[in-house]
Amino acid sequence: MIMPTNANARDLSDELRAESVVLREKALVDSGAFEIVASLTMEVGPRSAGSAGDAAAVLWAKEMLSSIGFANVRGEAVTVPHWDRGTLDVRLTTPFSRLLVATSLGGSTGTPEGGIEAPVLRVESLSELRQMTSEEVSGHVVFIDHVMARLKSGGGYSAAARIRVCGHVVAAERGALATVIRSAGTSTHRFAHTGSMLYDLTEARIPAVALSNADADILAHAVQSGEPTSIRLRSSARYLPDAQSSNVIGEIPGQGANADEIVLLGAHLDSWDLGMGAIDDGAGVAAVIAAAKLILNSGNRPSRTIRVVLFANEEFGLSGAKAYALEHSGELNQHVMGLEADSGAGPVWLLASRVAESGLNLVDQIHALLAPLNIERGDNSSTNGADLGPLRVAGMPILEMRQDNTEYFDYHHTIDDTLDKIDPKNLDQLTAAIAVAANVAANADGDFGRLAPVQAPTATCVAD
Ligand SMILES: [Zn+2]
Repeated sequence: MIMPTNANARDLSDELRAESVVLREKALVDSGAFEIVASLTMEVGPRSAGSAGDAAAVLWAKEMLSSIGFANVRGEAVTVPHWDRGTLDVRLTTPFSRLLVATSLGGSTGTPEGGIEAPVLRVESLSELRQMTSEEVSGHVVFIDHVMARLKSGGGYSAAARIRVCGHVVAAERGALATVIRSAGTSTHRFAHTGSMLYDLTEARIPAVALSNADADILAHAVQSGEPTSIRLRSSARYLPDAQSSNVIGEIPGQGANADEIVLLGAHLDSWDLGMGAIDDGAGVAAVIAAAKLILNSGNRPSRTIRVVLFANEEFGLSGAKAYALEHSGELNQHVMGLEADSGAGPVWLLASRVAESGLNLVDQIHALLAPLNIERGDNSSTNGADLGPLRVAGMPILEMRQDNTEYFDYHHTIDDTLDKIDPKNLDQLTAAIAVAANVAANADGDFGRLAPVQAPTATCVAD
C-alpha cells in the first residue's frame, strides 16, 4: 500500500542518492556478509545464553568489529539465564511402542528421574484446552496438535509460538503432568523445533516438549485410532546459575552537527543450542555488520552516528534488549531510527516502517532507492525487531526489511539451522537494502520524527 507523502520534508540531495546507489550496487556484487556468517557459524557455532558458545561469540564479535575498523567497540554487560536441555527421551508406549523425535522447549523443567508416563489428551488449540475442566485434564500429558501455516509473511508463527509459550501454563492450571506440542515450525523433515516458553509463577512447573511434525503425526494417529494412548517422557533439563554475557557494540561516529544522533542497526548474537544459528540470527548479524562496513569503507563519514548492536540473549528472555534500554536510557531520544535483521536469510520483498507522519517522505525516498531490488513499499505499522521493543515503545522510529519467510520456519530453532541454508545472493540483497537505509538515515537533512511513547505489552498467558 502506498502511504501519503509529507510535502514539507525535503528530498534527498543528489549526492546522497548517488552515494546510496553506489553502496547498493557494491553490496549486490559481494557484500562480504556471507564470509562473516560463515566465520560465526563455523568457528563459534551454537551460542545459547550463558553457554561457552555464548562467551566465544562475544569474543568473536568484538574481534570482528575491531578488525573491520569500527570505533568504540565494546561489550556492555548483560546478566542472562542459563538453561541446559540435558537429555530427552519421548516414547509412545500405548497402543504401540515408538520412540518419538522431540526436543525440550527452552526453559522447560526436567522430569523426575524415572520419567513421567501418562495417558495422552489431544487438543488442537489453546482455546479448546481452556474450555476443559481439571477433571478432564488432570493426570494427563496434554498434546497440543496445532499445524503451523506456511506463509511468505511468516504470519503462521505467532499462533504457533503462542501455544509454545503458553500451552503448558494452561495445561498445568488443569492438573496436566506435561505438555507435548507439535513443533512451532513448518519442517517436513524429522526435526523438532525448540523455542522459548514461560512459566506462570503461580502454577506448577511441568515439562514441555515439542515433537517433529512427522512424529506429531504418529501421536495424532495413535490418539485418533480410538485406542487408549500413553506416552513416556524422561528429561534432565535444568537451570544453572545466571551467567554473564554482553551486548557487543561498534560504531561509525557521526561528524555532523547531529553526531550525537544514533542510527541503530541490530541483530542478536545468541542462538538456540540445537543448530549453528546460521539463519537465526547469524544472517542478521552478518548483514548489519557488512552494511555498516560498506558505509565505513566508502570513505564518506556519516553525519549521524551509525551504531551496530549485537544483542545478547534474544531467544530466551530478551536480556540484551532490556539491558541496552536501561544502559542507554539517557539517550533514548537520540535514537533516530532502529532496524533489526532477525528474519532469516530470505530475500527482502517489502520495506515497512513505523515512523512519525513527518518522516513518511523520507521512507518514500529510501524506498525509491530500494525498488530496483524488487522491494515493495509496505505500511507504517511495523512492530519488527524483538530487541528493539523497549526502544520502540519509547517512541523510536523503525524501519523493517521484511524478508520472504516461506522456508524460514523449516529450519528455525532446529538442528538444521546451518550455513548451507543461506544463499549468499539473498544475503547480499538484504545487506544492500540495510546499507541504503542506514546511509540515508544517517545523512538525510530530515529525519523520521518521533512517535509518542506507548505502553509496553505485558507477557501473559491468561487469555487468548
Ligand atoms: Zn532470532
